[in-house]
Amino acid sequence: ELYNKVLELKGNMRVFCRCRPLNTEEIAAGASVVVDFESANDGELSVKSNGVVKKTFKYDAVFCPQTNQADVFKDTAPFATSVLDGYNVCIFAYGQTGTGKTFTMEGTTEDRGVNFRILEELFHIVRERQKLYRYCVSVSVLEVYNEQIRDLLGSGTQAGVAAKRLEIRQVGEGIHHVPGLVEAHVSNMNEVWEVLQTGSNARAVGSTNANEHSSRSHCIHCVMVKGENLLNGECIRSKLWLVDLAGSERVAKTEVQGERLKETQNINRSLSALGDVISALATKSPHIPFRNSKLTHLLQDSLGGDSKTLMFVQISPNESDLGETLCSLNFASRVR
Ligand code: ADP
Ligand code: MG
Repeated sequence: ELYNKVLELKGNMRVFCRCRPLNTEEIAAGASVVVDFESANDGELSVKSNGVVKKTFKYDAVFCPQTNQADVFKDTAPFATSVLDGYNVCIFAYGQTGTGKTFTMEGTTEDRGVNFRILEELFHIVRERQKLYRYCVSVSVLEVYNEQIRDLLGSGTQAGVAAKRLEIRQVGEGIHHVPGLVEAHVSNMNEVWEVLQTGSNARAVGSTNANEHSSRSHCIHCVMVKGENLLNGECIRSKLWLVDLAGSERVAKTEVQGERLKETQNINRSLSALGDVISALATKSPHIPFRNSKLTHLLQDSLGGDSKTLMFVQISPNESDLGETLCSLNFASRVR
């Protein structure tokens, strides 16, 4: 309860920065670390060049390479309460490929990420509130690739068959809907886990290189909640979006051609559209350019207004990634 008050006072946009550890190859190669976490507890990090601090950034939280999944989730858990209170919530992971976006959102079987943990927290609160509220929860899993929406729970996701392509329709004032999108009803964590696995498996289908494909598409989980207050009959409807974004690395146009060039342009377009929307909301601009990409169009109902947004900006500590790291940190400062 207290946390939600703090959230309200500070507005509806949070930015958390998380840095991955150096991996074994980087350590073996003697990589140097250019990110300084001395003031991480105050939400600050510094980027150094030749041992001298070049620039300092401040966010709502900074997680250093040693921070584990449970500790990262501690600061994310309050959003589960917001969703059950009727707020729409978007949680994004942004950053260069290889910086831990999927690790933060999906995690691993032994070390689960935000997607699993926030649903666990959601069901925990549903149980706590069962004398007061009745909730119904369902989950959709989709992917935006090359400005096309694919249903990862829909039929036609078996090997060799292209998944059904979907469109966004406006069905009322501020209400957007994707007709035909599968919504899997879930009532416990076993069912949630099954849905997450199904979505995850369907994602790789049809691509020759699963890793490359996932770094160029946005993977989206949408948790839909309907709640009824058993005392006064009041109803709420809310959505929680969990988005593992495509890699933000800049690709030189001279290096790619054909399909790959189109992919790159679509990624750049949708990530900058997301940045434009969030900063337009932050500056209270009269025109919010939701329609510039499938991603922002899809999330339109859940960005702005009294919706809450959390952006994980993922970075690498390695000196050789410094250029991309600065780009990501600047993007994060712009949306904050
Ligand atoms: P991305 O999705 O941004 O491309 P990944 O999540 O696939 O990046 O992470 C790349 C590699 O780094 C994976 O092997 C992942 O397990 C590892 N990794 C990322 N973040 C962390 C972390 N905080 N702690 C330990 N390993 C991490
Ligand atoms: Mg990934």
